[in-house]
Amino acid sequence: CGIFAYLNFNVSRERRYILEVLFNGLRRLEYRGYDSAGISIDSSFGPDFDVFPPPLVFRQAGNIESLVKSVYREVAKTDLDLEESFSTHAGIAHTRWATHGEPAPSNSHPQTSDSGNEFLVIHNGIITNYEVLKETLVRQGFIFESETDTEVIPKLAKFVFDNAIEEGDRRVTFCQVVFEVMRQLEGAYALIFKSRHYPNELIACKRGSPLLLGVKEITEETSDGAFFNGANKFLSRNGKPKELFLSSDASALVEHTKKVLVIEDGEVVHIKDGGASIFKFDKSKYKRGGTITRPAS
Ligand code: GLU
Repeated sequence: CGIFAYLNFNVSRERRYILEVLFNGLRRLEYRGYDSAGISIDSSFGPDFDVFPPPLVFRQAGNIESLVKSVYREVAKTDLDLEESFSTHAGIAHTRWATHGEPAPSNSHPQTSDSGNEFLVIHNGIITNYEVLKETLVRQGFIFESETDTEVIPKLAKFVFDNAIEEGDRRVTFCQVVFEVMRQLEGAYALIFKSRHYPNELIACKRGSPLLLGVKEITEETSDGAFFNGANKFLSRNGKPKELFLSSDASALVEHTKKVLVIEDGEVVHIKDGGASIFKFDKSKYKRGGTITRPAS
């Protein structure tokens, strides 16, 4: 089982390229064993540029190549353009070794919060208190579509987010949402969160399962500093082009970069605007809504 993420910043990458980087990441993780696989990438902007479209999710039981085939098959049925380029984009990919729920597309990851894919999660590990969390969320009206322990995570994230909005906190950050989710999780995990509400950002965290961050500065290509990108409108002229990777295994990173950081238990990586901030999450010190973090140097 493995997790992999690829985020390009201020460097133009076509959808086909992004897909291939994600698929290759999964191929490098294959040797660890798995029974299903899945990915999420962004869809295209419609005429209304202020609304970020729901991320696309592709999931398949079986091997990576059957996922690859099904993705290209699905894409061919739509008007999704493989040549569409993204100056910034955050894609995630997962190989699953089932612990709860048989290998099936619905049990594969990313697991989702709802049909609009507001929050997506890929997970290695086991959430030991998922039954209590599930009960609470079902009582709140959430409808579960998988038999996994993982599905409580994106749904809890949506619950936390919706509550914050309802309480008038329109500026609730992705980190605040994830911290509150982490506070409630028990078990072992490496997680990556992707959200429609926080486009071009990813959050990863871990407790007990491995997680690595890889950074590649792009020097051979120059950014014109004014790529159009729906959500970010115009990216910073100073934002140096970069590629960032998250992986459960160094074997998926070595072909991209030698700059690899091992993430420690309890750390949270927030990737945004081409930077990666690392926070220490301490459950015992965490107070709901309180300030609990300091950036790692
Ligand atoms: N417990 C999760 C599941 O069964 C994740 C398994 C894994 O580590 O791949 O879906």
